[in-house]
Amino acid sequence: MVKNKTYNRKKIVTIFFACLVIFTILAGRLVYLMIFQSDHYTEKAKELHERERSIKAARGRILDVNGTVIADNKTVCTISVIHNQIKDPDRIVEVLCKELDLSEDYVRRRVEKYSSIERIKSNVEKEIGDAIRAYNLEGVKVDEDYKRYYPYDSLASKVLGFTGGDNQGIIGLEVKYEEYLKGEDGMILTITDAKGVELDAAGEERVEPIAGNDLYLSLDMNIQSYATQLAKQVMETKQADRVSIIVMNPQNGELMAMVDVPEFDLNQPYTLPEETDTAGLTEEKKQELLNGMWRNGCISDTYEPGSTFKIVTAAAGLEGGVVTTEDQFSCPGFIMVEDRRIRCHKIAGHGAEDFVQATMNSCNLVFTELQNRNDIIRCRLY
Ligand SMILES: [Zn+2]
Repeated sequence: MVKNKTYNRKKIVTIFFACLVIFTILAGRLVYLMIFQSDHYTEKAKELHERERSIKAARGRILDVNGTVIADNKTVCTISVIHNQIKDPDRIVEVLCKELDLSEDYVRRRVEKYSSIERIKSNVEKEIGDAIRAYNLEGVKVDEDYKRYYPYDSLASKVLGFTGGDNQGIIGLEVKYEEYLKGEDGMILTITDAKGVELDAAGEERVEPIAGNDLYLSLDMNIQSYATQLAKQVMETKQADRVSIIVMNPQNGELMAMVDVPEFDLNQPYTLPEETDTAGLTEEKKQELLNGMWRNGCISDTYEPGSTFKIVTAAAGLEGGVVTTEDQFSCPGFIMVEDRRIRCHKIAGHGAEDFVQATMNSCNLVFTELQNRNDIIRCRLY
């Protein structure tokens, strides 16, 4: 009897310690999950229960010096489906195919895909989005966002630049002032149960988007328009590949117009000019052609100042006293500088002319001569 009692006690003690070890391990695991892994699992649960739809911020507009809007936003829609809320998949497929002009196969695959939210099409015209909303189909979401729109199509295209699919600046001022223009996207947060069904009680949490800042330019679209017409005329008559015009305010250096024809359509920036033979072009080659089409020669290329520098030479000559407006010259059509024969642009020569006439003629000979005289004063000065 006594022996038996001791035996039982031993057994109890063993079981007690076994249980203690097991509970210690479980408690340890619990502490590990609840304290050390807490962030990880909270995040996972959130992912499962929250469904996010972003609300795009309106991008800042771009305005010219007169306040004319030259880059604006158009409201467009994004159509998505939420698998768990769909009641009548066939009807949804039928409506979306018809309204969005998509293949049945494409829409059905997305409607039947088991995911929290599936985007069917973005950049859909607002009228079409409204029409789809009017069907009141359960499980179909129509969200509004913005698309960049350029009311002047190709005017000042290389200066303004354009935006990509996510409304981010790609080239020109759109990319240069991206941080001011872009704004901050908002968000619609819906809480769902584990099956993905929205909980009405939890409601929607909205974080409102913050619109981007407007950008005001010194550019004047009237001057830009005239300069573009002129550049096109010159390109036509001279059979040139490219013509650039920059109009600058001499008082402060502000740019009033910057033209580099041929320009391109900002509303269809990925369309190459009609005459381009795109058949058999590799993607790389096509991108190269697009880059060439978007390139702003006024900024990216160098060009010798040429005759524009004659103004500086003339001013230096008059101020240095090496020439007066009445000085007489005779242009035979060329001048020798050391062993080089420098031609005047008028091969027959301008003949007899005073300094005022020479300036009006932009005579190369007179200004070469004047530069020689300027060099003499400079030598004396140093
Ligand atoms: Zn001359």
